Amino acid sequence: MKVLVINAGSSSLKYQLLDTETQAVLAKGLCERIGIDGRFTYKAPGKETIDAVSIAMPTHAEAIQAVLDALVDPANGVIASMGEIDAVGHRVVHGGETFSTSVKIDDKVMAALEECIPLAPLHNPANITGIKACQAVMGPDVPQVAVFDTAFHQTMPPVAYTYALPYEYYTNDKVRRYGFHGTSHKYVAQRAADMLGKPIESLKIITCHLGNGSSVTAVKNGKSVDTSMGFTPLAGVPMGTRSGDLDAGILEYLMNRHNIGITEMLNILNKKSGVLGVSGVSSDFRDLTKAGSEGNDRATLAVDMFCYSVKKLIGAYAAAMGGVDAVVFTAGVGENSANERMAIASGLEFMGIRMDPDANAVRGKEAIISAIDSKVKVLLIPTNEELMIALDTAALV
Ligand code: AMP
Repeated sequence: MKVLVINAGSSSLKYQLLDTETQAVLAKGLCERIGIDGRFTYKAPGKETIDAVSIAMPTHAEAIQAVLDALVDPANGVIASMGEIDAVGHRVVHGGETFSTSVKIDDKVMAALEECIPLAPLHNPANITGIKACQAVMGPDVPQVAVFDTAFHQTMPPVAYTYALPYEYYTNDKVRRYGFHGTSHKYVAQRAADMLGKPIESLKIITCHLGNGSSVTAVKNGKSVDTSMGFTPLAGVPMGTRSGDLDAGILEYLMNRHNIGITEMLNILNKKSGVLGVSGVSSDFRDLTKAGSEGNDRATLAVDMFCYSVKKLIGAYAAAMGGVDAVVFTAGVGENSANERMAIASGLEFMGIRMDPDANAVRGKEAIISAIDSKVKVLLIPTNEELMIALDTAALV
């Protein structure tokens, strides 16, 4: 089955056309500056690359049309006609408590998606715009599926998702831990079980999605039972530019002292904090490692804080699950940085984690990076959210 995977942002749209039988990526690319001046990128194996060329994209509909035009282009395309696209899978950030699995989109689902907008006011409207654009351009006969970042975490028990606030904020206002990166955590947990040759239902796995945004999840018997992001993706470990967990009392203190409003405060927590804020250098771990090696102590502190925070969660989630069989590293930092993986895992020998430095000297490909006699297996597994979205979509249609 050929599935077009769409990840729509407010002014951008990432796409991939996948063959779910062979799991091959037939073509992929990006529409940027939608509503501004439109830039289009297209890559397909053996075809000419289109690199950020100007194409008018006043709305997401023109962006989708540009994607379809490129896919069916006689010289550069990968399909003969739009009819070859069997379905479209959309990444949707927030499914609230309504969606615990992926769903085929109909009018009822669209209405429920609209209801989830207050929970993700920046992301969900863009995702909905992407869905509507596909419906308008491709017509009603091509099935569309929504795959949610939050859905995998809907199996968390109340003890993990409830905040210690007046309970009405949960019942009336839906304030609870939702968690994000669910598609990635689900994918790498399943791959880990496959690589270990054991049914996922028999395993306790801690998945560490460490990128620009980072989250750690406890996956027990194939189900998410706790995760570090919360009501929003601001919670958990320090990230590229997000603070992660912090004492809420700090907000009032800083807002009063610096005479800043809540919008500015949240902008600081989301865009100017994390390893960028601590280091004053960069949100990119490569820059921090370089600055650290040149003697920048704040850059070193930022990386150390990040690793320490992930390490603490591994301990916490092992306790929550009553043990751990495997720890998985994925996403930009998790897949590429042997140093950060080693810093996180070292010192955890007491709980049966022993790394193999040679096996850990690997980047971007599936590998077991713990020592042969390590009781807890440590794995590197490149995430593949697009494939997961395509497979979910194929299964539903
Ligand atoms: P992601 O959000 O998953 O795309 O991850 C992006 C982050 O991965 C970047 O901000 C970098 O900090 C990090 N990253 C990518 N390559 C490397 C590398 N070779 N070493 C360390 N960090 C890396």
